[in-house]
Amino acid sequence: MKIKRQKQAKKTISFYKYNFSFREPFQILIDGTFCQAALKNKIQIKEQMPKYLMGEVQLCTTNCALKELETLGKQLYGAKIILQRFQVRKCPHFKNPVPASECLLSMLEDTNPHHYFVATQDHAVTTGLKKIPGVPLLYIILNTIVLDKPSQTSLDHVQAVQLGELVSPAQQQSIRSLKEEQGISLKDGERRGKKRKRKQSNPNPLSCLKKKKKGVPTPPLKKTEQGEKRKRSRHKKRKTEGGDNMSAPTVTNT
Ligand SMILES: [Zn+2]
Repeated sequence: MKIKRQKQAKKTISFYKYNFSFREPFQILIDGTFCQAALKNKIQIKEQMPKYLMGEVQLCTTNCALKELETLGKQLYGAKIILQRFQVRKCPHFKNPVPASECLLSMLEDTNPHHYFVATQDHAVTTGLKKIPGVPLLYIILNTIVLDKPSQTSLDHVQAVQLGELVSPAQQQSIRSLKEEQGISLKDGERRGKKRKRKQSNPNPLSCLKKKKKGVPTPPLKKTEQGEKRKRSRHKKRKTEGGDNMSAPTVTNT
């Protein structure tokens, strides 16, 4: 079982390395629920994590996650002691702490640019992070740490990149740095802003069409009559054309 688990982890890690540019030391964003589960199952996170991920790791958390544990009181004192030992990453809620689940998800932004692994037992966080491509999830089950298989969102993202529908994060970064070198990025942003404003001010072209149709409600019958007349004349023309065609094949046959 242990070997199988390790093999699966290796496969998953190389998926993130190859498709989402994950590199050592792996950044592991941890919350109180994971520490609590580790404590219950007697798992030494600092020891086990690098072994399981087969590489250097950096264990970190946020101020909000620590604050939440403090407010929850004595039952989570042990978890708090563990979490305190990890690096505290800056989050945007310095003055007004938010729930840990909300904070962790905000750290991932839209594309997980800092390549965080997330270690949590919190259902709100796991469901949230599965909507973001390229976020490895670690959780504790049956006394062991488990690296979850890539989410469907991650798999779909990779497939879209392979089909050329999307630019991979690595490519995006290189494009961005190229633009910055040439000083294009700022101008580009301004242009985009102007374009969006124009689009909003334009009236909907479909609404214009409807108004014209409403303006001429009465003469639809006459129109159809005219149409029929036209059709009749077309038929006559076709007949004459047909006559020409009848004579044509005799020419080709000879
Ligand atoms: Zn926060």
